[in-house]
Order: sequence, then structure tokens, then C-alpha cells
Amino acid sequence: MSEKILCLITANTEGSLDKATLECLGLASKLKSDGSAELVVGCIGKEPAEGISNCGADKYLVVSGEAFEASRYSTDIVAAQALLESAGSTVVIAPSSSRIQRFISGLAARANGAVDTHVTGIDTEDGRLTATRWFYRQRIESKISRKEVRPWIMSVESGCAAAIELGDSVSWEAISDLEIATNTTVKTIEATSGGDQTIRPDSDLLFVAGAGWTKKQADNSVKADKAAALILDFINRRKASLGSSKSMVDLGSEGQAVLPFLTHLHQIGQTGATPRHLKGLATCCHGEEPHAVGWRFIKERRAINMDANCGWAHGKADVLYVADAFEVMEKVNEKL
Ligand SMILES: Cc1cc2nc3c(=O)[nH]c(=O)nc-3n(C[C@H](O)[C@H](O)[C@H](O)COP(=O)(O)OP(=O)(O)OC[C@H]3O[C@@H](n4cnc5c(N)ncnc54)[C@H](O)[C@@H]3O)c2cc1C
Repeated sequence: MSEKILCLITANTEGSLDKATLECLGLASKLKSDGSAELVVGCIGKEPAEGISNCGADKYLVVSGEAFEASRYSTDIVAAQALLESAGSTVVIAPSSSRIQRFISGLAARANGAVDTHVTGIDTEDGRLTATRWFYRQRIESKISRKEVRPWIMSVESGCAAAIELGDSVSWEAISDLEIATNTTVKTIEATSGGDQTIRPDSDLLFVAGAGWTKKQADNSVKADKAAALILDFINRRKASLGSSKSMVDLGSEGQAVLPFLTHLHQIGQTGATPRHLKGLATCCHGEEPHAVGWRFIKERRAINMDANCGWAHGKADVLYVADAFEVMEKVNEKL
């Protein structure tokens, strides 16, 4: 394979790298060793504090400085373009973070290349690179290869490659004196309306709250406050990521009792997210197909439902606890 790969990453203001970035470096490193490709790592924002020598890149380039620390299209695109030009790469791979996704197609346009986002794997076949990605809400998987257009720029989903082990620090070559013109000032960064940080893509466990939590219970009462306390307690103690069913997030607009910290960003399913946690626990959620399709990449699935004939019982979960989720979660929280 005669490709020159640029692994394009961003570091946060503390200079640390997240799991998706370490996975992307792992993938780049594998491609380098599989096909003897040349590998350059290019970082925007800050010189990473972590030692990433184990990715075995030939060169490490960085664009740093105050202007490049925060995510902003006009500065990120200039930095990415400078890194690509300096590396002279034919292939760019980057983690699918919101920061990267914002400018990656702009980078392809400026470089006269092609872009494929949400890629789930890259391999070498007969000396040629091939990428896989899903279409139609994760129902059709396709394999793409591009013969003519270069640079070929790809953003890779998290959870699809093994992360590199941290190693020794590397020596970064700075690219400086870039000309930036921006009207955008980053004043502050605020967390999303969820308040508490409840969406944690890096967690090994997804906890899904369904509409049952706010429905009338056996004693004919609605216990939304108790449900909210139990769920948040679990999420915070277990450092799990919170998801929900569509019915649950829609209830607010129908004037019914809601859990205040749930937003449409939490929705899992056909019209929601398809997260990639190792394990998932669905509670008070029926397990309808449009919801369960979002569980495609969850490896171990469990559910708690009072209905022994709910959707999860029909082959959608590995284990179904036929029980009252209020009682179960209270006991689980006690144990935690
Ligand atoms: C085109 C289309 C796209 C859709 N996309 C999505 C999507 O992306 N995501 C999504 O989630 N849905 C989606 N839906 C809706 C989906 O079909 C379901 O209606 C929805 O997921 C149901 O939500 P639920 O299971 O939380 O609620 P319900 O169906 O109301 O189920 C509540 C469950 O809670 C249980 N329960 C109640 N109290 C307790 C208790 N104390 N302990 C244990 N269990 C209890 C009940 O037995 C029941 O099974 C879509 C539908 C369509 C038509």
C-alpha cells in the first residue's frame, strides 16, 4: 500500500486525549503495520500530555496556541488544512467527535478530496484501503473503496477499533504562524441542557429509562420524583450512560409527568442514537422494534419489566428480570 496516512486528532484544553482518539490512533497504527504505510499524527489544540509513542507514527505535528484550543470552524479548518499540507497525506482518518465532524467535509472541499463520515472500520485488501460504514439507520453495511480521489478523508466512529496503550511521550513539531480570520469569539463552554452529565459515550454500561417509570403503578399512583431520584442515583454511582425510549422523551410535550433531565439527545432507536456500550440495561421500557434497533451494537443486553411477555422477552435481551424496576433499582443502588 503506498498511502500516506494522516491521523488527525484534537486535544482538549488540558491536553488530554479521549477514548475515541486513542482508538483512532490504534486503527492508524494497525494500517501502518498492515500495509507499511507512512503515518503522521496531526493534533489541533494543544500538545497532548499523554505519551502516544505506541502508535509508531513517523512524525507528530501540532497546531497549538490559544486561538486553536476551543472548537471553532474557522480556526479548526485552517489548522487541519495546514496539517494536511505539511504531512502531504493521501488518506486522513480522524475520530468522529462533534468537533471533527463540524469541519471535516470543509477540509475535503478545500483539499479537493472526498469525505466519508461515520466509518466503522478501515482495512487493507489486496493492497488497497477499504472502509465500512452503515446506511439506513444501521441496517445496511457497505464497503467503500476510492481509487481515484485523494485525499480520502474519513471520520471513524468510536468503539470500532482497539485503543493504543499509552506509552512514552513523543516529540511534537509545531506548525505556527497560521493566518486566521474569524468573527467568532468563544466566550464560555456550557454543558447541554441535561444539566448533570448523563450521556457518557465512554462508559461500559448504558442504562435506558422507558416510559413505564412515569406511568401509574400498581398502587394507582405516579412516582416520577422517586423514579428521577433512583435513576440519577444509579447513573452517578455506576458512572453509566443514560438513554431513554422515544415515548419517554415525548411525554413532556403531551403534558404528562416527565423526568427533567431527559432530552431528545438521550433517545435510543431507529430515530434516535445507536450507542456502542459493552452492556445495556433497559428499565420500564417495552422493547419495541423501533427502539430495540438502537441496541444493535450493545453486546450484553438485560431488561427489567413487569410484563413477562414484553418485547425484550422475544429474543431482544439476553436476560429479562420480570420484576418491578422501582424495587430492583432501589436494591441495586443500595449495593452500589
Ligand atoms: C417510525 C417510528 C420510529 C420510532 N423510533 C423510535 C426510537 O428511535 N426510539 C424509541 O425508543 N422508540 C421509537 N419509536 C417508538 C417505539 O415504537 C415505542 O413506542 C417506544 O419505544 C415505547 O417506549 P417505552 O417502551 O418506553 O414505553 P411503553 O411502550 O409505554 O412501555 C412501558 C413499559 O414499562 C413497563 N413498566 C411499567 N411499570 C413498570 C415497573 N414498575 N417496573 C418494570 N416495568 C414497568 C410496562 O410493562 C411496559 O412494558 C418509533 C416508532 C415509530 C413508528
